[in-house]
Amino acid sequence: MFKPLDILDDTHKVLRQISKEVSLPLSKEDRTTIDRVIKHLKYSQIENMAEKYNLRPGMGLAFPQLGMLKRIIIIVHEYEEGKFKNYVIVNPKIISHSEEMVALETGEGCLSVNREVEGHVPRYARITITGYDPDGNKVSIRAREDLSVAFQHEVDHLDGILFYDRIDKKKPFFSENEIRLI
Ligand code: ZN
Repeated sequence: MFKPLDILDDTHKVLRQISKEVSLPLSKEDRTTIDRVIKHLKYSQIENMAEKYNLRPGMGLAFPQLGMLKRIIIIVHEYEEGKFKNYVIVNPKIISHSEEMVALETGEGCLSVNREVEGHVPRYARITITGYDPDGNKVSIRAREDLSVAFQHEVDHLDGILFYDRIDKKKPFFSENEIRLI
């Protein structure tokens, strides 16, 4: 049985707090939560499932969005039409990044922000992120383009930052020669 997650919106102060490092291996409860998040994110990106369960599409979620101040992020990336890869990173750290910045041309969205917020969010085009899998094994992932953006968006959640904090209010849009739009 699939039951959509209860995701907190940005009126909740918990989204502005700093999440705590998690000890490993993860508890059974946290693993169950992760499985539910993966299913929710996957279904949300499959049109007929999203419709059936009334899910807003999203590729990532961080534990504080569920009211838990734990440094765990989950991304379900559709790398090819209909093909998904799951990433679960516990205690993630972005250890290096490109000089080059990019921004999603249509702006970012967030499952905790139930409205359109217009503007370009500058992000590193490429990052290396390290952390642990749920069993406590060290992981290191190199990400680029939309996956890189997604990781930066989710890590921000662990530090109480929302994507619109990074939009310049005075100049919300970049031109193509200021930043590469993807
Ligand atoms: Zn978000």
